[in-house]
Amino acid sequence: MPIKVLAPGVISQIAAGEVIENPASVVKELVENSLDAGASQIKVEVQGGGIELIGVVDDGAGISAAEVELAFQRHATSKITDVDDLSSTSTLGFRGEALSSIAAAAEVELYTQAASEVVGSRIRLSQGKVVRQESRSRPRGTTVTMRWLFRHLPARLKFLKSASREESRIVHLLTQYALAFPEVKFRLLVDQHLNFETTGDGSLRGVVACLYGREMAQKMLVIEGEGTTPALSGLLSPPSLTRSNRSYISIFVNRRWVRSPLLIKATEVAYRGLLMEGRHPIAVINLALPSADVDVNVHPAKAQVRFRDEQMLFSMVQESLRAVLSQVPIATEKTVPFTTSSRQGESSWELHDREASVIAPLPTIELPVLRVLGQLSNTYIIAEGPDGLYLVDQHAAHERIRYERILAQWKRQEVEVQGLLSPVTVELNPRQEATLKSNRELLVQFGFSLEPFGSRSYLMRAVPVLIANTNVVEAITTLLDNLAAREDPVPWQEKIARTLACHSAIRGGQQLSREEMGELIRQLERAEQPRTCPHGRPTMIHLTSHQIEKEFGRIV
Ligand code: ADP
Ligand code: MG
Repeated sequence: MPIKVLAPGVISQIAAGEVIENPASVVKELVENSLDAGASQIKVEVQGGGIELIGVVDDGAGISAAEVELAFQRHATSKITDVDDLSSTSTLGFRGEALSSIAAAAEVELYTQAASEVVGSRIRLSQGKVVRQESRSRPRGTTVTMRWLFRHLPARLKFLKSASREESRIVHLLTQYALAFPEVKFRLLVDQHLNFETTGDGSLRGVVACLYGREMAQKMLVIEGEGTTPALSGLLSPPSLTRSNRSYISIFVNRRWVRSPLLIKATEVAYRGLLMEGRHPIAVINLALPSADVDVNVHPAKAQVRFRDEQMLFSMVQESLRAVLSQVPIATEKTVPFTTSSRQGESSWELHDREASVIAPLPTIELPVLRVLGQLSNTYIIAEGPDGLYLVDQHAAHERIRYERILAQWKRQEVEVQGLLSPVTVELNPRQEATLKSNRELLVQFGFSLEPFGSRSYLMRAVPVLIANTNVVEAITTLLDNLAAREDPVPWQEKIARTLACHSAIRGGQQLSREEMGELIRQLERAEQPRTCPHGRPTMIHLTSHQIEKEFGRIV
C-alpha cells in the first residue's frame, strides 16, 4: 500500500498520547517498522543508553524514493486507510506517528531502498525539518539512525533515567521481540559490543538458549495448544527453574508484546503451590486470538490491549499451563546445587561474633534486652522484655543484621571476600550482562570477582563471605535482576546489601537452638534500626504488659 496521510475521522479514532517517551520507545517503533516491512534480519545498535545514538538496520521492503519525505509526516502510514482497518490490522504499527515523533525529538537519518527501485534515497531531518536529501544505492532495506534524543527538549530530557538504566530497558525490550519473532535474526550492539544475537532459524527454544543460556533452554517445557481457540504456544519453566521477579514472563498476543496483569496472574496461578514464595517462573507465551477479540487501540504505545472476554481467557491460559506443569513429576524435580565454596556442607547460615562487632553500638539502645523463651512455627522467636512479649521474625531480623553488617563493611572498604576453590561459571542473560557491565566497580567493592568467559558466560572466582555458603549463582543473578528493577528507587549499594542480606539470611521454617536464638537477639539489639527489615517490614511484634492484662480482663 502507498503511504498516505490518514483522514481526520480516522485519526480521531486512534488512542491519543505520546509515542516517544524514552530511548526504548524509539527502538520499539523502529523495530516494529522493520518487522512490518517483512525484515528477516534486524540489527540494532545503541550508544550512551540510546540517548546518544540508536541505529536500526533491516532487510525489509524499503520505502520508495517518492514516499520517503511523506513517511515523516504526522499520521502518514501505509498500513491502514479507514476506521474499519483499525479492528482488523495485523501490522504492529498503524498510527503513522512514529517517524514524525522521532524526527521532532532528535536528529534522524533514514537511508532506504525499495525492491522495485534501482537507486535508494537518503534523507536527514533536524528538529522535524528535512535538511538534506540525496539519491544513493544500497541493498534493499532501511537504516534509521537517531542521534541525541531530546537534545532540544530539556524538559523531556530531564525525565530520562541514567544511560545504564535506559540501556537495560532497551536490552529487555529487544529480548522480547527476539522471543516473539524466532524466525527473524536479531543482533544487538551496545556501545559497540555484541550484547546478543539470535539465529533467525525459527526455533523459540533456540532463541531462549541465545538469550537465557542453553541449560535453561533445555529444561523448558513446551506449551502445546495450537488446536485450541485461542491458540496457545510457547515455553514454560518447570517448577525447579525460577527467578526472583516477573520480568521473565513474556506474553505475546498476536505477536505483540503485552504487559497484561491479567495474563501474568493467570500464569502465576498455574504455578500455585509449586513455587517458593517470592519466586517466579520463566515463560514465553504466545496467544493467537481472532482480531475481533482483542483491541490494540487502547494505548499510544500499544503496550496494553483489551480482551473481549477476560474471564474466558484467564481460565483458558491458567488451565492450559497447569496441564503442562502437571506432566512434570514433581518428586524428580530438583534444583541442582551450584555452590562449590571451600566451606560447602556447613549449615547455610552462621552467626559470627564479628557480625555484631561491626555494627556501631548506639548511645540510645532502641531495643531493650530480651530473654528468649522459645520458637514458634520454626519461624518466630518468642522473647520476653521489660514490658511484655516480643515475637521476632527470624528471617527479617537476620536480614536486618546482615544488611547493616555488609553496608558497614562496604563503607569502610573492608568487605570480607571468600575465594572459591574452583571457579563457578555463571550464564547471564543480556539484561543481566548489561547490568553487570554498568556496575562492575560496585560489585567488585562488594566482593564479587567475575571475569568474562565466552559469550555471556562469566567465571566467578570470589564472592562476599556472607553468601559463600549459599547458592552463589542464584545470588549473583538475583542481584543483577534486582539492580535492573526500575520501580525501586533506593541507592544501588543499598540494593546490593539488601539482596545479599536477604539471600544469606536464615529462612523461616528453620529450627534454631537456644544459643542461636540468643545470639540472633543479641545482635538485633545492637542493630541501628532493629525494628524493621531492610525492605521496611517489621522484624517484630510487641505485645505490651498492658495489652496482655487488658486482653485477659485483669484491667479495663
Ligand atoms: P506506522 O508504522 O504507524 O505506519 P511510522 O511513522 O512508523 O508509522 O512509519 C510511517 C510509514 O513509513 C510506514 O507506514 C511505512 O510505510 C514506512 N516505513 C517506516 N519504517 C519502515 C521500514 N523500516 N521499512 C519499510 N517501510 C517503513
Ligand atoms: Mg511504525
